[in-house]
Amino acid sequence: MSTSPMQMSEARRFQQLKGHLSYLKLNDAAEALNRVLDQARTERMSMTAALERLLEIEVEATEARCLAARERFACLPEPWSLADFDFAAQPGVDEKLIRDLATLRFLDDASNVLFVGPPGVGKTMLSVALGRAAVEAGHRVYFTTAADLAARCHKAALEGRWKTCMNFFAGPKLLIVDELGYLPLPEDGASALFQVINQRYLKSSTILTTNVGIADWAGAFGDATVAAAMLDRLLHRAAVAGIDGPSYRLRNHQTKVDTIRAGVNSRAS
Ligand code: ADP
Ligand code: MG
Repeated sequence: MSTSPMQMSEARRFQQLKGHLSYLKLNDAAEALNRVLDQARTERMSMTAALERLLEIEVEATEARCLAARERFACLPEPWSLADFDFAAQPGVDEKLIRDLATLRFLDDASNVLFVGPPGVGKTMLSVALGRAAVEAGHRVYFTTAADLAARCHKAALEGRWKTCMNFFAGPKLLIVDELGYLPLPEDGASALFQVINQRYLKSSTILTTNVGIADWAGAFGDATVAAAMLDRLLHRAAVAGIDGPSYRLRNHQTKVDTIRAGVNSRAS
């Protein structure tokens, strides 16, 4: 079967268009081209509508790739989001404050957030939930623990990469430092954390979780001057959420223990 010059040029033009899209690395649009053109023909779409549909496919794919990259970079340890947090189970949490933080307005003026409370009350969960909200809103987030941050800075100093390491921790729009005070920080660890906090001061937000009440920081750091300076930077613009409610884990554990006990008692009687 012979092809008319008209059809021939149309086929060539299609190939060229596909080639242009690939050259521009608009690969999802290139792949969808045939489908969108068919759709445009059958649905009698306008040229504008067809182009819009094609580019929308590329934009959506690019957004999904960027979100996945931000998620990988953030290293959030759990898939928690704020919807998973049971406020009724934790009366020690100021729900209004948390909902306000979840609007992410605190990122705009580089405010910090401190979650202070004993183990199991949801400090990590809330910080991960805020981190996830920030990732989804398009921000660069990085989660670490105080111990890991200290170890990483220590190693970087030994290997002559101190500046690179500091730049790394200065980069994210939101840095989450979990579990400050759970393990004693070595002296250079406390100083590294101070430098990280100091260089982010008034530029970008940090969320810090700790089991050490602010009044006891001097003791926890060994060095009262470093502790005071760090608190000064952190608290200058900050929301402090003290969580003094019951441990969620222990509460669940207690329910299980009660259930087992009730079972044993009913069998005994
Ligand atoms: P913390 O960091 O204060 O020690 P976590 O955030 O790690 O506590 O919480 C401990 C466990 O309890 C986690 O599995 C977390 O998902 C769960 N948890 C804590 N508080 C709540 C809550 N209010 N609603 C739902 N799960 C919670
Ligand atoms: Mg925790």
